[in-house]
Amino acid sequence: MLQKRHSGVGAAVEYAVVHLKVENILVIGHSCCGGIKGLMSIEDDAAPTQSDFIENWVKIGAPARNKIKEEHQDLSYDDQCNKCEKEAVNVSLGNLLSYPFVRAAVVKNTLALRGAHYNFVKGTFDLWELDFKTTPAFAFS
Ligand SMILES: [Zn+2]
Repeated sequence: MLQKRHSGVGAAVEYAVVHLKVENILVIGHSCCGGIKGLMSIEDDAAPTQSDFIENWVKIGAPARNKIKEEHQDLSYDDQCNKCEKEAVNVSLGNLLSYPFVRAAVVKNTLALRGAHYNFVKGTFDLWELDFKTTPAFAFS
C-alpha cells in the first residue's frame, strides 16, 4: 500500500531516487529516542489526542511497537524502547519499499536499503541490510 498521507517525505524520496539516483538509503535509529518513547507509551485503548501531527507521525511506527510489545513483554520499558528503536528502522525500510520507484531501483540493484542504530550512550553503531522477512510493515491503520 502506498503511503500517501506523508507526501512531503514521498516527494523527497522520489527526488532522491528518481532524479538524483542515490545508490544507498540508510535509515538510522538512535538511543534515548523521544519519538519511540512516545510511541511505546501510547496505551492500546487510548483515545486519539488533540495532536494533529505528532501522534500521526509517531504512529507510523505502530507495527514496530506492536511487535516489541508482543514478543518482549518481559523486558523493562527502557529495553523495549531500545528494541523498538531498531524495529522502527525496519518498519521504515518496509515503508520505503512501498514506493514503486524505490522497489524498482532495489530490484534493479541500483539502490540499496540499509538500517542502522546509533547508541550514543554506549558509543555503538549497528548496521544491517534490509531483511524482507522481519516486519509486516505494510499494515497501516
Ligand atoms: Zn529520535
